[in-house]
Amino acid sequence: MANRFDGARVAVLGGAGFLGSHLCERLAQEGAAEIVAVDNLITGTLRNVEELRAHKGFRFVQADITEGIPWDGPCDFVFNLASPASPIDYAKRPVETLRVGSQGTENALRLAERTGATFLQASTSEVYGDPLVHPQTEDYWGNVNPIGPRSCYDESKRYAEALTMAYRRARGVKTRIVRIFNTYGPRMRLDDGRVVPAFVAQALRGEDFTVFGDGRQTRSFCYVSDLIDGICRLMLSDESDPVNVGNPRELTILEFAEAVRAAAGGGGRIVHRPMPKDDPKQRRPDISRAKRLLGWEPRVSLEEGLKETIAWFRRVVGGPVAP
Ligand code: UDP
Repeated sequence: MANRFDGARVAVLGGAGFLGSHLCERLAQEGAAEIVAVDNLITGTLRNVEELRAHKGFRFVQADITEGIPWDGPCDFVFNLASPASPIDYAKRPVETLRVGSQGTENALRLAERTGATFLQASTSEVYGDPLVHPQTEDYWGNVNPIGPRSCYDESKRYAEALTMAYRRARGVKTRIVRIFNTYGPRMRLDDGRVVPAFVAQALRGEDFTVFGDGRQTRSFCYVSDLIDGICRLMLSDESDPVNVGNPRELTILEFAEAVRAAAGGGGRIVHRPMPKDDPKQRRPDISRAKRLLGWEPRVSLEEGLKETIAWFRRVVGGPVAP
């Protein structure tokens, strides 16, 4: 695929987050002339973009996209990745989560409309809720509890998808929607509560693995470099319907705990904790569309990905894991 990011001016909303910062790095490697990371630093951190500051075209702007997006001049691509994404983060900030998906997304779409940029919305496998169709294909409409504790995230992303399609249909904005499945890798926050940092931290500290419920619920984990590759391909494609990007290898949470134990060479017993309300029982992407339309499929195995992730967590925490 020709690299159409060469010389491009790109806005990455949520650019100091886990995915946003990896995306900025990729864009820098691919020759983007200007990369502006916008983030309000609620769940993102400047540490994630520290190394990028050496890149000549990179700029960080601290702003909340729900209030407006400071932008002068032209823009070729807008990636909207701004949102809390871990269940404990969005449970703590449900109103902010709904606002960033609604008002924030509208501000991002307006920026794309004004500048003629192509817009990509980061959506989520959570639009499928607790899915009754397995694996999840893009034409499944989902099974979401509109008033449950996860609804602030699920409905915010569902609304963001609807708004994106409306701006495409009514205003002619060039749009893309990626439905991101569970993703992991370096720069996840150790305390974000998601299963990957939780189990990795527990393994490194020699603590017990806290498995919610009976641990038979499933997830499918995609390494961050694969995910970013899928997002970039989608942005550069002509596809306006949603595309799942994730790794179809599905594990129970109990199997995942064993995989982390094997990769980290540690971890104690399995201890069970109550299952959070509305926790999806199964999740696996059907990636036929991404394969067909983008020529994309994941390349990094769970074993390799966990090795990289654990090495990063060890380095960052410098031996025993800091709380
Ligand atoms: N989970 C767990 N122990 C933890 C954290 C999460 O068993 O310490 C489970 C959680 O109940 C869910 C799965 O791991 O079934 C993935 O949770 P995560 O928060 O990473 O993301 P989700 O896919 O639910 O958004």
